[in-house]
Amino acid sequence: MDGILKEAGIQDDIPVPLSGEVRSRIETAIEEAIAAGAYLATRQYHVALAGNISVRVTPDLLICTRHGADKEFLTRDDFVLCNSLGQKMGGAGKPTSELNMHRAAYDSRPDIHAVIHSHPPAATAFAATGTPLDELQLPEMLVLLGPVAMVPYATPGSSDLARELTTLLPGRDAFLLQNHGTLTLGRTVRQAALRMDLLEQKARLTLMVKQMGKPFVLPAASREALLDFREPMANWGCEPFPSKPK
Ligand SMILES: [Zn+2]
Repeated sequence: MDGILKEAGIQDDIPVPLSGEVRSRIETAIEEAIAAGAYLATRQYHVALAGNISVRVTPDLLICTRHGADKEFLTRDDFVLCNSLGQKMGGAGKPTSELNMHRAAYDSRPDIHAVIHSHPPAATAFAATGTPLDELQLPEMLVLLGPVAMVPYATPGSSDLARELTTLLPGRDAFLLQNHGTLTLGRTVRQAALRMDLLEQKARLTLMVKQMGKPFVLPAASREALLDFREPMANWGCEPFPSKPK
């Protein structure tokens, strides 16, 4: 049970005792975050060590990637345990510099348990030009990804950026960070990763559609009918990543 925590160095210096259940949740969260890192990096969303991943394991504890970790090749040493105030509770290295942004998401959204920040190229191009990403109206995008908000630019890692994000968090799971990158939320880390895929796909398709003409706008009744599926589909993509055949 203590294997991953010990290997991660999280075991030795935790100031509060953790129950077996919490330790087990931390282990599962680290395994899922390692899988998410490889999934996202092979899609070129996390080049040059960029991006960060966190998972909330209890109302007061989260694990996050350490600053400078290579998301494609994450190991158990690449995670830091923090409390909800952002104080480090265990693990080697410094927490991601974007911890404020992750904490803002958890503070405002008790329903989500994973946050991913990436730089997928097409979606980041929309962020870099301040171009909203809300014209494409495909059923999957409306139901599974939902509305995409543009978070005004603030210095990465700053509390200003966390503040800008906070006002946009209710009812949204996907964000363009102006002149920076993207952010997705999920009930699980896999759901957040799949939303990152949908966000990048939406950006690529929007570019194609704009080259071909004007996107067709669905009638309001059709959009409303699709939005009715959002709540029943809330657990879409929450299963763990399938393990690779050995
Ligand atoms: Zn970034």
